[in-house]
Amino acid sequence: MKKEIVTRFPPSPTGYLHVGGARTALFNWLYARRSGGRFVLRIEDTDLKRSTRESVDAIFEAMAWLGIDWDEGPYFQSERFDIYKEYVATLVASGHAYHCDCPPEKVEEMRQKGLAAGGKAKYDGTCREKGLPGGEGTAIRFKAPLTGTTVIEDRVKGNIVFQNADLDDFVIARSDGTPTYNFVVVVDDITMGINTIIRGDDHVSNTPKQILLYKALGAELPVFAHVPMVLGKDKTRLSKRHGAMSVTEYKRMGFLPDAFINYLVRLGWSYGDQEFFTRNELVEKFNLENIGKSAGVFDPEKLTALNADHIKAAPPERLIPHLMPFLQEKGVQADDAAYLVKVIQTLNARSKTLVEMAESALFYYQDAIAYDEAALKKTFTPDAAAPMRQLIHELEALEDFSEKALEGAFLKVMELTGLKLGKIAQPVRVALTGRTASPGIFEIIEILGKEAVLKRLDAAVRIIEGKK
Ligand code: GLU
Repeated sequence: MKKEIVTRFPPSPTGYLHVGGARTALFNWLYARRSGGRFVLRIEDTDLKRSTRESVDAIFEAMAWLGIDWDEGPYFQSERFDIYKEYVATLVASGHAYHCDCPPEKVEEMRQKGLAAGGKAKYDGTCREKGLPGGEGTAIRFKAPLTGTTVIEDRVKGNIVFQNADLDDFVIARSDGTPTYNFVVVVDDITMGINTIIRGDDHVSNTPKQILLYKALGAELPVFAHVPMVLGKDKTRLSKRHGAMSVTEYKRMGFLPDAFINYLVRLGWSYGDQEFFTRNELVEKFNLENIGKSAGVFDPEKLTALNADHIKAAPPERLIPHLMPFLQEKGVQADDAAYLVKVIQTLNARSKTLVEMAESALFYYQDAIAYDEAALKKTFTPDAAAPMRQLIHELEALEDFSEKALEGAFLKVMELTGLKLGKIAQPVRVALTGRTASPGIFEIIEILGKEAVLKRLDAAVRIIEGKK
């Protein structure tokens, strides 16, 4: 039987979930979902000073928005100190770790000496064979091999070989008893049954130490896949200069979670030259083989274009829960779902973000139209009044507001006034929407319905005739 794949996402809660972190979460989630495996969430909050509850909540919120759910956890490292203690004791008992009472200044001296001699900054092994009993003020160091090599068999980068002579006896528990980063990660990954670790390649330098710990603990090594960092357009590491870093910021800017994850995945994984993926397609197709060797470049414009594609492709009903908060923010309740679906159908091919869509939808819900000043000046000219009055007359007589009937009404006005459709429609468009650009005029009239349309045309005629 094939082993169940177990992946994890272990964010440090020292800020919001950023773009790079979200991509890591996504890769691990997709890989677990793809294989019917498990995805574990672990909060790495051992740095008690920098970790905050707000950050934890921000991470949860971002993951909920992205639709990345977990099967196990969240575990909090801060609640696992007893487990770490046990594992430290195991390593000491098996001779893989030892107590060290060298004062920090002395260790620093050794490190400087190592550097000065043209080598690495290393602990020199003073206490390695002393067999100190431990107690107050002693740190615990891992007894690392002095010769040979440690190899990461990386699924993205191939074999990465480290000389053990370059590593030192690193601390696994500080003199105050707190365990160190690489150690807790390994204990967690072993005890949580994690067998596949996909993470940013900024962690490559930690991995040999972690591999040595796995070996010392007699545990099977997980599969490692180190993914190149995400860069900005100028090829430097992604930072605030390149645009928003926080995932929830993209939620606020009106991106669809499916578009966002589609874009995130493509920043490090490819499937031929396909750019557009639904969530299900990603779950079906994601693999480690197609993770790229070069860094992905984050391009907000490409993300926006992809967002437009996803808005267009999504069934209108599915957009409702995403669009609703943006409408509400503008004071629109939009309780009538059937009406809103029709509204969306006129806007989904012309909105790059949900913010834009909400903005464009406003006129459907306004009693008093907010006219764009320039549009009003340009189209509400004195000669626009007569055809508009004529149109009101024709529309009043209509029983149904189907596209065909509306076309008939406009044709009639064209005939009677000798004007072209555009000349009649443009002031009407401004009368109904307040703007010169909008969805198709017949669509709008049909959706707004007779009462609202007549009211708006009437108001427009009054403005044109200066009756206000
Ligand atoms: N907590 C680490 C981070 O946020 C991740 C550790 C790991 O993936 O092993 O970068």
